[in-house]
Amino acid sequence: MYIEDKLEEKIIIFTGAGLSSESGISTFRYSNGLWENYNIEDVCTESTWMRNFELVHKFYNERRSQLSSVEPNAAHYKIAELEKKYGDKLIVITQNIDDLLERAGVKNVLHVHGELTKMYCVECYHKWDQGYKDSDGICPKCGEKTARPNVVFFGGAAPMYKYMKRAFFKINHKDSKMIVIGTLGNVVPVQSYIGTIVKSEWVKNVKGKTFLNNLERSEYLSENLFDEIFYGKATEAIDGIDSFLAQED
Ligand code: NAD
Repeated sequence: MYIEDKLEEKIIIFTGAGLSSESGISTFRYSNGLWENYNIEDVCTESTWMRNFELVHKFYNERRSQLSSVEPNAAHYKIAELEKKYGDKLIVITQNIDDLLERAGVKNVLHVHGELTKMYCVECYHKWDQGYKDSDGICPKCGEKTARPNVVFFGGAAPMYKYMKRAFFKINHKDSKMIVIGTLGNVVPVQSYIGTIVKSEWVKNVKGKTFLNNLERSEYLSENLFDEIFYGKATEAIDGIDSFLAQED
């Protein structure tokens, strides 16, 4: 069978921290390796989080409290509108751990780095919705001090990556489109995914179209891999996204 028969026409929206920055949640590496004045290594590392238990919970409690006080912005609402318009054809994938896409009305979001409002126990594997409340790190089921936020730490497992990669392959269809918003591209190496899958040379003339929105050029994202680029705020990229999606070929 010719490989194109197995591909489906899809639209992928792949977002990073830049999508939520106009809502008041700061980005990550972009601010000199600090995330809200914490060292990323201290609060996001699989091998050290237990050692930094109190600090890790303080940090994520502050993130939940902050999340409860911010609102989705126009770019989140735009993605909800696109989901209504395109239905199952649209796949929304985010690296963000906030819930602003859901609060804007997006029904299906693949959170590849987990969700801030969810927690689990590394001892008994109980999972629960923490909402925006503080946690003392104690599991409500087994009572052990072994609870953690359901977010992917550096060096930890990222079980949702397999679904993300499967989705990226669908974009190889010639009529598929991929929109990347607000990511430097160094945590999830989106450049290598686009280069080897979306813009693959394995199958001639079967390539999706790509759109990039960031504030400025990233050293981790080759401009050659994008058909359209908008450097500016995500809330100002909306018109460009509409005309990109309206293009026939
Ligand atoms: P990053 O901080 O490394 O890079 C942010 C990118 O967004 C930059 O390329 C910047 O140009 C762009 N940007 C900033 N403001 C923008 C705006 N208003 N409009 C458009 N683009 C804008 O982010 P990353 O690549 O997503 O990696 C950060 C990691 O940290 C992710 O894995 C994520 O899980 C985590 N994180 C999440 C949140 C969140 O959930 N909101 C916030 C910070 C970090």
